[in-house]
Amino acid sequence: MIDVDEALRLVLQQATPLSPSRQSPACALGCLLAEDVLSDLDSPPWDKSMVDGYAIHAADLAGGAAELTILEEVVAGAVPKHAVEPGRATRIMTGAPIPDGADAVVMIERTTLSGDNRVQIHDQPPRPGQNILPRGSAFRAGEVVIASGSTVRAATVGVLCEVGHVEPLVIPHPRVAILSTGNELISPGAVPRPGQIRNSNGPMLAALVQQRGATPIELPVARDTVGALRELIGEGLKSDVLVLSGGVSAGVLDLAPQVLAELGVSQVFHKVRLKPGKPLWFGTRKSGERQTLVFGLPGNPVSSLVCFELFVRPVLERLRGLPTPAARTFRAKIAEGEFQHRGDRPTYYPAVLVSAATAASDLPTVRLLRWQGSADLRALAEADALVIFPAGECNYAAGDKVEALPI
Ligand code: AMP
Ligand code: MG
Repeated sequence: MIDVDEALRLVLQQATPLSPSRQSPACALGCLLAEDVLSDLDSPPWDKSMVDGYAIHAADLAGGAAELTILEEVVAGAVPKHAVEPGRATRIMTGAPIPDGADAVVMIERTTLSGDNRVQIHDQPPRPGQNILPRGSAFRAGEVVIASGSTVRAATVGVLCEVGHVEPLVIPHPRVAILSTGNELISPGAVPRPGQIRNSNGPMLAALVQQRGATPIELPVARDTVGALRELIGEGLKSDVLVLSGGVSAGVLDLAPQVLAELGVSQVFHKVRLKPGKPLWFGTRKSGERQTLVFGLPGNPVSSLVCFELFVRPVLERLRGLPTPAARTFRAKIAEGEFQHRGDRPTYYPAVLVSAATAASDLPTVRLLRWQGSADLRALAEADALVIFPAGECNYAAGDKVEALPI
């Protein structure tokens, strides 16, 4: 059996960023850009009005109020037909191009129509350029508007569309197949008969995958037969990562390792010194250009979640091209209560963050949750972190320092 650190090292050794591919801006959300994006136009593409109002000569208002003759109306999407001469004004809407000759826009709220084509302006003398956004003031054609290595955010999607770059080259979302195994599993919407339980792991793992910027592909539940496992594992091996839940322990129906071997998946390790999560299995299969990383998570939902956070999540980060953090855990203080821990393996214990580090307290504080052990998933639904108790026997009290893994 290997330690958690060694297991993580072995797992990360197999994980390299996925090859960049072209995606639509919306599909690229959350991905790292693998190219500089250049603009094909100036932004804004013309001197544009920032308000609804009148484009005028600023000098016409040097003496305060003025009455001007309206030349035309220009809405967004139209272009001006006339140049604005002294004593004239063009009614203009937000976003529309400024007519030649005009050097300021007065807001419509500061004007009154007088007659059919006359407008009175009662504004402070405008400064030249008032309410005009000059062409190219945000960026110029040919300029890099988003640098390679940036994360595609919602605003990035907008910029990509503004500059017409509709197929950006990005490191794609890893595709993660999820295969729940077990004769006892029924769908979460069904009512269990004796001996049956609802498949909570499949949807939970899909949610974890989604949360980590990868695309879950939930396969149908595999019964504990070699035939079913062979077919569905084969399907799952078409993805970048295959996450199995169940079937990797020491029971008579824990058939996953043998079927994985038969399908050409080479085992890297089986069993890790940790609690919960000891039966964890990890291997890889290479077929042509495609490599699939295969995790066999213990079926116990808490074990599955802990193993996901410890091993699958860092792999997804690596596949997405994200930097590996220097440390995944943080130091914290126990906020309250007393606690005894005894175990032959390091234990990951659910806890909530009570307070962040402050000037008064150098470390954040955590409260250990009431937890019935690895069958108790409910406590995990509340947890912000897993406190790591080293193997051995130890008593903890308020103020004691511990290491914790954020989840
Ligand atoms: P296994 O790792 O297959 O031996 O399963 C260990 C425990 O986890 C058993 O009590 C299973 O019933 C339970 N279990 C396995 N798969 C799931 C699942 N998809 N959802 C909820 N519990 C599961
Ligand atoms: Mg099972």
